[in-house]
Amino acid sequence: MHIPAHEIAFDFDGVVADTFRLFVEMAKTEYNIDIEYEDITEYDFMRVVKMDYTHVAQIFETLTNFPHEVDLKPNTGAADVLARLARTAPPLSVITARHVGEPVHRWFEKHIPQIGAGLLTVKATGESTAKLAILKSMGVKYFVEDRVDTCHLIAKEGITPIVYDQPWNRDGHSYAVVKCWDDISAMIDWEGSR
Ligand SMILES: [Mg+2]
Repeated sequence: MHIPAHEIAFDFDGVVADTFRLFVEMAKTEYNIDIEYEDITEYDFMRVVKMDYTHVAQIFETLTNFPHEVDLKPNTGAADVLARLARTAPPLSVITARHVGEPVHRWFEKHIPQIGAGLLTVKATGESTAKLAILKSMGVKYFVEDRVDTCHLIAKEGITPIVYDQPWNRDGHSYAVVKCWDDISAMIDWEGSR
């Protein structure tokens, strides 16, 4: 793939941020629940993880509102590639199903401060299905996502999904898969995007 830098956008949780790794850690430290990351084989993970729903909700509450205050790390290599993209083809576009975008901005300020305030667009759609209209309106042609159902939805409308490899997205699709941010960087046409 030779993706023009201005045509690609990114999901946040599970793609830019290592959200579910932290979820597993918080389940252990706060509720003494052991979850193997590789056992999260469904996006709707309550189907495969035995955990009290109120505890899940409390962890998500923290991850949603205070991602910059807990130890939510960028996936390896994400910071460098995203900073380069923001320089090459501003603004960098992040489209999340989260309900609020402001905490994501604060997370970027903490972890990838080299992306200046004006160089980042965060769209919080509130639900996964609403990503399609936003992506279309922004002219996004390639979207890196970890939820297969969202990939199906956008693929039908001519947006090319790129699956960020996770235990919950290995079946049921034939889209391009990236295992790390070096893989994403290798797909981008950096020279042609200048
Ligand atoms: Mg995600």
